[in-house]
Amino acid sequence: MTQIETGNILNGLIPRPARVIPTGYRLSVDSLNSIRVPSELQHLGNKLVKSFQYFGKVIRITASEDATVTLDLDRTLAAEGWKIEISQEAIHIYGGSHAGIFYAFSAMRQILALGFARGNSLAFFDCGTIEDNPRFEWRGLLLDSARHFQSKEKLKEVIRLIADWRLNVFHWHLSDAQGFRLPSDIVPAPEDGLCYTRKDLKEIAALAAEHFVRIVPELDMPGHSNYLLRRFPQYACDPLHPGAEFCLGNTGARFFIKSLLSEMMEFFPDSPIIHLGGDEAGTANWENCPKCRAALQQAGLSRMRELENQFMNEMSRHVITCGRRPMVWCTDSVHPADTIVQAWQSVNEIYRNYPHGNQMVNSVHYCYYFDYPANSSEPRLAWMPELSDENVYQASEPLAEMSDRLFGVEACLWTEIVPEWRVLPKIISRLPAFAENAWSRIEHKNWHDFQRRKMQLEAVGYTA
Ligand SMILES: [Zn+2]
Repeated sequence: MTQIETGNILNGLIPRPARVIPTGYRLSVDSLNSIRVPSELQHLGNKLVKSFQYFGKVIRITASEDATVTLDLDRTLAAEGWKIEISQEAIHIYGGSHAGIFYAFSAMRQILALGFARGNSLAFFDCGTIEDNPRFEWRGLLLDSARHFQSKEKLKEVIRLIADWRLNVFHWHLSDAQGFRLPSDIVPAPEDGLCYTRKDLKEIAALAAEHFVRIVPELDMPGHSNYLLRRFPQYACDPLHPGAEFCLGNTGARFFIKSLLSEMMEFFPDSPIIHLGGDEAGTANWENCPKCRAALQQAGLSRMRELENQFMNEMSRHVITCGRRPMVWCTDSVHPADTIVQAWQSVNEIYRNYPHGNQMVNSVHYCYYFDYPANSSEPRLAWMPELSDENVYQASEPLAEMSDRLFGVEACLWTEIVPEWRVLPKIISRLPAFAENAWSRIEHKNWHDFQRRKMQLEAVGYTA
């Protein structure tokens, strides 16, 4: 048989699997003709049939024992884990759960693209076993729909795309200085009409669930709230100049925000985690406000940052009372141990919070902010560093002994200068590198090997 210069197909996958054991044999695609799928996995089986069809290979679903492709759950595998066994006669695909099968398919699509690179009649697969499960439970992407709005259809494309690269968290930034995008009964709809309807939210949640993606909605507070305060100036320190921060000494403001949070939880009944923002609030308005100063004194505190922390804790307790879990951006404050903290300014934030027992997500900006330009030709703000896919791949890692509290990683696409039509290109250019960081074992990472696999997949026309 001809030597194939591209190497073993099983070593061509992104993210790199935990374990690959090639046998040196080959399976000719000609011999594959049928797939056996347990009834509970029927909808997933159809997806695989379609993937084969895409490459011109017709494969029919059968109940017969001698099917050449089989699909099964294997509860001994990790929940998101999967296994593919390719022998000279058959392909067996196993998942620890439906999500595991879904992730096995994402690997299968790459195997198909590499195997069918010479066309249907010459197609083959290398034989062997691949066993895989993710390094991190939290593999996220943040999309900012407040600065620039994206249509429901664009959001669906984004969710499908990230799921193909095995991300499982869609962190949705829905409120900021430029807009509040939920169909609220409390906040009037924006004049430009750019907000989601209840029906949109349901459709997006259903699509996310079907792709094993969890939605984490965010209401940023007490800063980043200019839009809400322009409409409700009575909750600002100075109603004539509402600014960006809610007044911390205004009980009406606290009640208002809790109502918005309760409404948000109603919009996202299946989201166990609610993000409360908490970043970049200025203290100047609070320092000059008699209400804030009185609240500070009454609470027996000396600094406005402490009062802010007390406010954030009150909001996070509200979320807990409603049966959800709070998450915040990292600041200098300490949060109750049940709050998830998202590091964004530096890896030191992970070290600083570690002793307090919080679970943490790594979104450090110089590693994972996808609004930064991927190369020198992309538009940027003057202060933005360049963030190539190599920079993403070589992202800072916290010390290994802190891994027990590191929930995972999340890339963030802020949209100050990213209109809707640039959203997908901004994500796609760095997504494979990010996906490998999120999924693969750190000891298996190698930039040159990653580049080889990426170029190979691109060369055979693989797109997620
Ligand atoms: Zn105030």
